[in-house]
Amino acid sequence: MVTPIKNPEIRYKHLFINNEFVNSSSGKTFPVINPATGKKIADVQEGDKTDVDKAVNAAKKAFEPGSVWRNTDASDRGRLLNKLADLIERDRLYLASLESLDNGKPFNDSYNVDMVLVYKCLRYYAGWTDKIGGKTIPMDGNYFCYTKHEPVGVCGQIIPWNFPLLMFAWKLGPAIACGNVVILKPAEQTPLTAIYTASLIKEAGFPPGVINIVPGYGPTAGAAISEHYEIDKVAFTGSTEVGQIVMQAAARTNLKRVTLELGGKSPNVVFADADLDVAADACHNGLFFNMGQCCCAASRTYVQEDVYDVFTRKLVEKAKTRVVGDPFDSRSMSGPQVDQEQFDKIMALIDSGVQQGAKLECGGKRHGNVGYFIQPTVFSGVTEDMRIGREEIFGPVQQIIKFRTLDEVIQRANKTNYGLAAAICTKDIDKVMTYSSQVKAGTVWVNSFNVFGAQCPFGGFKMSGIGRELGEYGLQQYSEVKTVIIKTPTKV
Ligand code: ADP
Repeated sequence: MVTPIKNPEIRYKHLFINNEFVNSSSGKTFPVINPATGKKIADVQEGDKTDVDKAVNAAKKAFEPGSVWRNTDASDRGRLLNKLADLIERDRLYLASLESLDNGKPFNDSYNVDMVLVYKCLRYYAGWTDKIGGKTIPMDGNYFCYTKHEPVGVCGQIIPWNFPLLMFAWKLGPAIACGNVVILKPAEQTPLTAIYTASLIKEAGFPPGVINIVPGYGPTAGAAISEHYEIDKVAFTGSTEVGQIVMQAAARTNLKRVTLELGGKSPNVVFADADLDVAADACHNGLFFNMGQCCCAASRTYVQEDVYDVFTRKLVEKAKTRVVGDPFDSRSMSGPQVDQEQFDKIMALIDSGVQQGAKLECGGKRHGNVGYFIQPTVFSGVTEDMRIGREEIFGPVQQIIKFRTLDEVIQRANKTNYGLAAAICTKDIDKVMTYSSQVKAGTVWVNSFNVFGAQCPFGGFKMSGIGRELGEYGLQQYSEVKTVIIKTPTKV
């Protein structure tokens, strides 16, 4: 068992531009709060438009033809990414501790899940750097035609607070693999691990200006990125509402490329023939992992009527025995929600569930009296016309919904504007094939939930997003295809 660092020293609180830690132009800072106590951890430099401009200038310079970065061999980009992964692994204990302090997630998860996925993601994309090639195309006439995959250029990346360093890696890995330069804005709630990792970026030997980090608020620093005329692409992960704002900003300004990974209301469908213990794990972990703060959270649990009562009891039992507490206590399976705003929103949705007639099976209240902890909460008798059956909750609140047939449940699963993920628990391959082909979701898990690999693409149908992250598909969003046609003396 690894012992966390309970009070990790906060070494860096600055913006990182052109490989230097700098203060914000305005001189302003913003407080970063420990969600387990509600107390301030640090004041971090608050970037805004002026700072984003500075970062863009540094990034543009780093991207000029003939620059060190443009002259770096593709395989050496891989070496740099691998080096960064090694340094993150070296500092895994510190980074995992800092992540838990800042975000509230249990240290066990930060250390064993987040950090591992972070360096695996970077290593995965390190392997791609010198394998990103185009095609030769047998076009008509005396011409030689080939395509080349070129970097898009200056990439703005706006990330959320639920997996701070992991979202950083998901964004950075493919962007750097393709040879881009980056301006990344961490979420205002959780900027600390990204800022610390800036020091590792420098230590790894990335040239100045290739990766810049501008902490700050969404409507200022975030908007400055999505509206910037000299940012060529914006990648955003967060709420659907802000995703729409980002896309509008891109459309209004320079039509920068936009990729979005947004909200969800993912259905997890349990058939009576399923292994109910396996299914209960998938449903419970699919919802309560990371305190329900996952865009793909299994927040609609459909249970076939024959096993509805028995399965509901299983889920309630699991929720009641889930240990909520100090993120640094190794027994804790859940920590606090990230901030007061999320806490209030979740409590209001719990109230609405009660008001609208769902049965509160367990939980429903604040846990303890400091910090933003919420008891694991289960509602049965939920229908899709209730707010909790329809809206993204982003908290530890499970909705159990009764269904009868496969056709019916597919229709109900799809009756949402979201389409990020879906799951099915059954031993019947025919049901698996029908459901997985008809459900409108970017990922379908079978007898499992929340299983991720850097190799496997992730992203949403419908209002859950545009584009895919991870895997080879993730590279497509970070290159432009250039077609070159050369006149030749004969047919070649
Ligand atoms: P959540 O609702 O889960 O907190 P948000 O979508 O509000 O998620 O935030 C995700 C990221 O988007 C954060 O980094 C946040 O600062 C940023 N953001 C918020 N508002 C804007 C905006 N108007 N323009 C660009 N980025 C924004």
